[in-house]
Amino acid sequence: MKKKQRQPEVTLCHCGDHAFAPLTRGFITLVDPEDSDLLATHCWEARVEPNGMVYAVRAVSGGLMNTVVYLHRVIAARMRLKPSQQAPERRH
Ligand SMILES: [Zn+2]
Repeated sequence: MKKKQRQPEVTLCHCGDHAFAPLTRGFITLVDPEDSDLLATHCWEARVEPNGMVYAVRAVSGGLMNTVVYLHRVIAARMRLKPSQQAPERRH
């Protein structure tokens, strides 16, 4: 039986500073608009850690094991690659 596929779904916030996408379990995740492509290209699910923190993750199958990719780590890795820039002011 084939599992029903979720489709990536990303929405830009009206404030212009955020993009968000639904996760599983009724959670959503918020990112900067410039990172919205990550939400548009993959479905992310909510992962609740034993300490109660909720992360957006996706499983990448490779070989014998599935790897869990954390959305915030992907974004953090991107930020390290960017040239230094002024921190945008955040108002919401
Ligand atoms: Zn917003």
